[in-house]
Amino acid sequence: RTLSEGDSVVVIGLGRFGRALAVELAQSGVEVMGVDTDEEIVQELNGVLTQVVRADASREEVLHQLGVAEFTHAVVAIGSNIEASILTSSWLLRFEIPAIWAKAISEPHGQILKQLGVHHVVYPEADMGRRVAHLLRGSIADYQEIGGGFAMVTAAPTPSMVGRSLEEIGFRKKYNLNVVAVRRPEGEWEHATGETVPRWDDQIIVMGPKEIAESFIDMA
Ligand code: ADP
Repeated sequence: RTLSEGDSVVVIGLGRFGRALAVELAQSGVEVMGVDTDEEIVQELNGVLTQVVRADASREEVLHQLGVAEFTHAVVAIGSNIEASILTSSWLLRFEIPAIWAKAISEPHGQILKQLGVHHVVYPEADMGRRVAHLLRGSIADYQEIGGGFAMVTAAPTPSMVGRSLEEIGFRKKYNLNVVAVRRPEGEWEHATGETVPRWDDQIIVMGPKEIAESFIDMA
């Protein structure tokens, strides 16, 4: 469930990740309450978020006092203290907050959060590391995981795509990937259709299952 008018977000843990997330949301006009045990962090964000509280969010009575159960969205952005991350997440689940997101710092940490029932588990360091690896290799202009096992790749068309229409190639059937947009050098993005004929100096946006999108990069 994405944010709509009147929604409110509680961000627990205002480290590098939680802080960036909370500030970005607040600046786009969303009501955000931040919670952290660190007094200095709370001071720094005072006035930047709708409300900032110094508290230990792994304690049920604390979350109650803060009225956390009334929020529509919660983000558990505690990474290094796995015990606090798990405890906090389990209270939020018990409060039946409709959308709970949590950051995991390792695969086992993420597994536990998923098994608890956290709706969205994200791995910011691992995701960004993979993304930068793809960018470093230079085969692609951009690589973005979009969740749910899908990824979006901006790249040059593969040599075998050049000069034939997407329909002729049977691109989607052949690769289980969709070409969604095409752009000429200096031009604007345009929707791709079956009639689109990629040229060697075009950029294309390809979307589909992550593993297949990654293997497309190897072809590009
Ligand atoms: P990052 O890598 O994004 O900086 P960290 O895991 O290092 O993430 O930061 C976690 C933040 O969560 C820290 O600011 C820490 O003070 C806060 N934190 C840790 N445990 C709790 C807790 N029980 N309640 C509230 N905040 C917490």
